[in-house]
Amino acid sequence: MDNCIFCKIANEEIPSNTVYEDDNFRVILDIAPANPGHCLILPKKHTTNIFEIYSDLLGIVYKIEKKIASALKAALNAEGINILQNNGEAAGQSVSHYHIHVIPRHQRDNVTLNKEGKSLSSDEFSAIVDKIKAEL
Ligand code: 5GP
Ligand code: ZN
Repeated sequence: MDNCIFCKIANEEIPSNTVYEDDNFRVILDIAPANPGHCLILPKKHTTNIFEIYSDLLGIVYKIEKKIASALKAALNAEGINILQNNGEAAGQSVSHYHIHVIPRHQRDNVTLNKEGKSLSSDEFSAIVDKIKAEL
């Protein structure tokens, strides 16, 4: 993808604070971190989101999440880790190149990722269960 900033970073056309790299991924520090150590896992090959992710990645995405989360826990004494991956503008995706946020967390660090939940009736829950099940 010619105009994709994360393609350029992943393939070293633009420099980055890289913490890890292998054949499939580059892991960089987010330029505007939720907390110090906030990492982004970028596939080197362009793909936009979970709906288009190529099958070679499916088996290894969780492995790299675990590797980076474990390193952040050890290196930064993280007490918790958030793993977050936005798909589509409506979900807060601002860069259209698949990426996974790995965010180190500490007690009372004032990072607000968790929003208050909505209240649904039991009929509404049941209707949603039926709709989702019909697609599986
Ligand atoms: P999204 O909102 O798409 O899930 O996340 C995009 C993330 O990429 C944001 O957290 C933003 O700070 C980060 N970001 C955007 N542009 C750059 C960049 O050029 N370099 C780095 N390191 N991070 C970036
Ligand atoms: Zn890209």
